[in-house]
Amino acid sequence: MLRIVPALDGGICRVKLPGGVLRAAAAHALAQAARRHAAGVIEITNRANLQIRGVLAGHEAALSENLIDAGLGPSMNAPAEASGGVRPSDPALTVSGATAVSAISAASAADDVRNLMISPTAGHDPQALFDTRALAAEILALLQNEPCFAALAPKFALLLDGGERLAMLEHSHDVWIAAMPAHDGVHFAFGLAGCPPVARADEPEDNAAPGTPALAAVLPSQVPTLVNALLRAFLDLAAPEHTRMRHLLTVQSAQAVLQRAQRYLDFPLSHDPALATWRRATADDSLRFGVHPQRDAETCHVGGQPPLGRMDAATLHALAKLAEDSGDATLHMTPWQSVLLPNVPVNAAASVLARLAALGLVCDATQPLARLIACAGSTGCAKSHADTKADAFQLARLHVPAALGQVHLSGCRRSCAAAHRAPYTLLAVAPGRYDLYRRDDEEPGFGRCVARHLTIEQAAAALARLARSPLDA
Ligand code: SF4
Repeated sequence: MLRIVPALDGGICRVKLPGGVLRAAAAHALAQAARRHAAGVIEITNRANLQIRGVLAGHEAALSENLIDAGLGPSMNAPAEASGGVRPSDPALTVSGATAVSAISAASAADDVRNLMISPTAGHDPQALFDTRALAAEILALLQNEPCFAALAPKFALLLDGGERLAMLEHSHDVWIAAMPAHDGVHFAFGLAGCPPVARADEPEDNAAPGTPALAAVLPSQVPTLVNALLRAFLDLAAPEHTRMRHLLTVQSAQAVLQRAQRYLDFPLSHDPALATWRRATADDSLRFGVHPQRDAETCHVGGQPPLGRMDAATLHALAKLAEDSGDATLHMTPWQSVLLPNVPVNAAASVLARLAALGLVCDATQPLARLIACAGSTGCAKSHADTKADAFQLARLHVPAALGQVHLSGCRRSCAAAHRAPYTLLAVAPGRYDLYRRDDEEPGFGRCVARHLTIEQAAAALARLARSPLDA
C-alpha cells in the first residue's frame, strides 16, 4: 500500500485486508480516496484484498496517507515509535531522510508479509469445524511484528482453514493449516508448499488426492507457535534464491524443515504417516452467490460478484451503505473476486440480494459472468496481447456453457488473474485472438492447447462444442 506499482492506466495501490474484511467506514474512505487520487476503479483481488487502479501521478503519498488514516495500513506494535510519527507525505521524508525512509520501509515490510487467507465465512459457517478468526489475528500480529519475518518474500502466503464450506482450496500456499476432527475435539493438520488434500467422491482409494499431504497435526492453541517455528525454520534453511517454500523443498526434505522447526517449539513435532490419508471435506464455491444460512439462525450472508472483480467508487460506497443499513457494517472480500455481506437478518436478505443485483453484481452462479475471470488486459497492462476484460464481456454475451466450469482470459502467460489453474484458459496471442487450453486434473500450466488463434465468436463456439463433447474442440 505504501509502494504504488506503475501500470499502463496509472499506478496500482494494493490494500491488504485482514481476513478479507473491510469495515464500512474504511470502505467509504477507500472509495473517496480512489476518486480523489486515482481513476476511481477498484478491483477485488484473488487473495481477497483490494487494489485501486489509475493512481494519478503526484498523488501517491496522499493516497497512502488517506488509506492509513482509514486504518488500512499494517498494524504494528508501538506504531508511533516504529514510524517515528512519519507519514508518507511528511516533509521529514524529503528533509531528514534516513529515519523516515527506514520507518516507511519497516511499515512496507510489515504490509508485504501479512498474507494469511481464511474463509470469507470464518466464524459464521454452521458446518465449520473451528472459528479461525482469533487464531488468524494472532498469526497476523506475529507476521507484522516479528522483525525477522520482514525477510519473507512479499508473495509468501499462509492458509488457515477452519473447515468452512466456502473455502479457496486451489491456491498453493507456502504453509497450509487446516482444521480436522480429532478424538478430543479439533486438531489442525498442516503441510508445506501446496493446499490441503480434498475428498472427492470419485477418488480411487489408492490414488493421491489433489493437494499436498498433511505432515503432522497440532492443537488449536499450538497453531501460532507452529507458524512461528515453521517460518523461522524456512528462514534458517533457505538460500537467497529460495524465496518460496516450494523452492526450499527442492533442496531440503519436509522432514528436515520439521526438524529445524522443532528447535523453536516446546512440544514434540513429528511427521505422522497416518495423516497421509486425511482429506479435507469438499468445499462449495457457489456459496459466494446469493443468500446462505449462518451459525446464528436469525442471520445469513448475502453475496455477489462485481463483473470480472472490478467496480467503481460509487458501487463501493453503495455496498458499504448497504452493509451499514442491513448487515454488520462489514464487507467480506473473497478470493473469487466477490463480496459477502455477513450477519444480514433473514427477513432482510431478499431485499439485500435485490440491491446487490441492482448495483450490477452477479448474484447467481448460473450467470456466464460468474464463470469468467480476466486479467487487466491491454488497457491496463503493457504485456497484454488483447483487451481481455472487453473480450470477456463479449464472451459472456455470447454464452459460456455452465458445464465447463471456469474460463480464464489471460493477456499473457503470467496468469495474474488466477492464482490457480482454471479448467479452460483463453490465452491472448493478438488483439481479439486467443489460443484455447484445456486442463485436466494433474496437467501442468494451462493444460493442453486444443485450438489456436480463435476470435471470441470462435472461442464461444469451441467452448460450446467442448461442453457437448469433451473430446471435441
Ligand atoms: S496476465 Fe499478463 S497481460 Fe494480464 S495483467 Fe498479468 S502481466 Fe499483464
